[in-house]
Amino acid sequence: MDLKDLLKDLDENLVITNSEKKEKVIYINCKMDTEESVCPYCGEVSNKVHSKYVRKLSDLPIQNYEVKLLLLTRKFFCMNSHCSHKTFGEKYNFVENKSVKTKRLINYINNIGLRDNSMDAVRSLSETGIKVSSSTVLRIVKKKQSST
Ligand SMILES: [Zn+2]
Repeated sequence: MDLKDLLKDLDENLVITNSEKKEKVIYINCKMDTEESVCPYCGEVSNKVHSKYVRKLSDLPIQNYEVKLLLLTRKFFCMNSHCSHKTFGEKYNFVENKSVKTKRLINYINNIGLRDNSMDAVRSLSETGIKVSSSTVLRIVKKKQSST
């Protein structure tokens, strides 16, 4: 199993800087291999990094191992003096703002949650390496239904 290919499915600019297997969890350190980012408030491109932090995300499991992405996320200065914001955080297509799960993981949980009752869903998710509570499953299914 090539971890690189799996990450490219999330975003082609995503690169792995390190990965480590501990107990039943695979930790993948990763970051965007880009110099710049677009300010979501004004649309101007910036390459001036303000700060960095690591965002922890759960992704689809690999062969029953839980997968945690340690995503090095950058905060940029917006160089547009007319912009309403001085800084902005890097945005990703594969995860909603502030979410701790990738979109593809949420879709997967949603599909199982629609198929099974919540207790069975928790059990079958846990067997594949996804640790969630029944209330999380219900919340995801409910949110998906209300957004479609
Ligand atoms: Zn801006």
